[in-house]
Amino acid sequence: MAEVKENLHMEKIVSLCKRRGFIFQSSEIYGGINGFWDYGPLGAELKRNVKELWWRAMTRAREDVAGLEATIIMAPAIWKASGHVDTFSDPMCDCKKCKKRHRADQLCEDQGLALTKGDNGQFAFPAGTKCTHCGSTELTEPRPFNLMFKTYVGPIESEDHVAYLRPETAQAIFAQFKNVLETSRQKIPFGIAQIGKAFRNEVTPRNYTFRSREFEQMELEFFIKPDEAIEAIHGSVATVPVSGHPGEPQPNWGWQAWHQYWVEERVRFYEGLGLARATLSFHVQTADELAHYARATTDILFKFPFSKRDEKGELKGEELEGIAARSDFDLSQHQRFSGKPMSVFDEELRNAWPRLPQARQDALWQRYYAHRQRYLTRMGVAEDAAARQATEDANALAKGNYIPHVIEPSAGVDRLILALLTNAYTETVKTDDKGRSETLYVMQFHPRVAPIKVAVLPLLKNKPELVARARAVFELLRHDLACFYDEGGSIGKRYARQDEAGTPYCVTIDFDTLGENPELHDTVTLRYRDDGRQERLKISGLRQWLLEHVR
Ligand code: ATP
Repeated sequence: MAEVKENLHMEKIVSLCKRRGFIFQSSEIYGGINGFWDYGPLGAELKRNVKELWWRAMTRAREDVAGLEATIIMAPAIWKASGHVDTFSDPMCDCKKCKKRHRADQLCEDQGLALTKGDNGQFAFPAGTKCTHCGSTELTEPRPFNLMFKTYVGPIESEDHVAYLRPETAQAIFAQFKNVLETSRQKIPFGIAQIGKAFRNEVTPRNYTFRSREFEQMELEFFIKPDEAIEAIHGSVATVPVSGHPGEPQPNWGWQAWHQYWVEERVRFYEGLGLARATLSFHVQTADELAHYARATTDILFKFPFSKRDEKGELKGEELEGIAARSDFDLSQHQRFSGKPMSVFDEELRNAWPRLPQARQDALWQRYYAHRQRYLTRMGVAEDAAARQATEDANALAKGNYIPHVIEPSAGVDRLILALLTNAYTETVKTDDKGRSETLYVMQFHPRVAPIKVAVLPLLKNKPELVARARAVFELLRHDLACFYDEGGSIGKRYARQDEAGTPYCVTIDFDTLGENPELHDTVTLRYRDDGRQERLKISGLRQWLLEHVR
């Protein structure tokens, strides 16, 4: 389970997923619809488990995170403020010869080239860029394509009624920041978590569910004090270890410690789902890649079979989740666009500030002023207005008010599901004494995420006593555990079916259960999926044993 699946072909996974009911093409009977996928019975359970585990880890297990469930369609002004209306686009182009449409940056990347961007913001192809479909160099100029799906609210289809399907769940969190703060009795630092659908009209959906047009996100916006406030209150911000988990959150943590904390917390989460560290890698965005407002972004990657390889020939991995330190950009934008204050009052800061030596006050004031002024001018606010506003903001800081900064761990459910499927997939070829071979598939999911936790199997179908006892055991378990009852076919076949579904435990009811061997009366055979090991367990302790082993 721990090793990277180097030579695995995606087609095998796609085929197993369809055969066993993990994932189907959306609208398959009509020929499908590109970039949309449905989850079948096993996939739906797998997905539900993943979301439940994320929700538990991110909200219920913590005192400092509250949940939110917002609408998919929101006021279009939100997407203006967030920058999505103007800049959420990918460059696309068409091949003039074969008419194939490409994402221009991916087209270059696939040929070991890089798309260039001129000072005027226009993209251009480097010399020699070809259509990867037909080889022609006759390509249209790369042009930006906005990824947001548009619709109309109400019966009139005019520009005034345009609305967007959200391309991320995060913005609702920012828009509801004040309501959550006021109703949840939280204080900075604290977070707001949300799971929900997001929609992106990707130019070229690809790699199975990895890049879909409808998908789900699990996002946390964790609001923290600006470093200037921490320094005023605590004297300095905590230094961050070079690598590794910085430990339990401390009051003097600045954005760097919080960023590192969330990267490490998220890695622990993935490990807890059965994705070993060796299957993950990291991409720390370079200054060139970072959005202008971001201070740092670390992507957690999973080494998918379709990932590109580095110079050493090792799989680089593809993004599962990005953890971004986004400064106070988002709330500042919503404050400017909505005209509603997004700042908070911090009593600790208000009390600490007057006690600081004048020189320290001046230095912190200046730094905060410079940060605010830089943000405002970058957003197109005129120099003098920006200077005036930044002065107001820095004066407000000295009185205990600031717009919180944010650390954003943003994960995709579907990409995680694909990683779990890839990671779980194993096949072995078994040859019997007559030389006949068959391939056995075992989905080695961590019991925590496995769609079915336990299968209950009577040894024989035609023995009413065995069937009745098996039904009773099934009844005992199914209210607390995802449980499957199966009496059809040989026991070996039924085990194999459960192995393919990734069920970690099978429970068999046989004649010993009924008391044929008095010592084994009221016991069952428990079979482990990964090594086929079997042991006897008392029925009376079965439910508890299973609950402990699938947690
Ligand atoms: P990419 O660079 O791969 O397009 P991104 O950096 O645009 O991803 P974000 O905007 O940071 O992605 O979204 C956060 C998370 O949402 C991603 O890490 C990913 O798991 C998920 N996600 C984004 N786009 C898609 C998509 N088209 N299909 C499935 N999941 C997606």
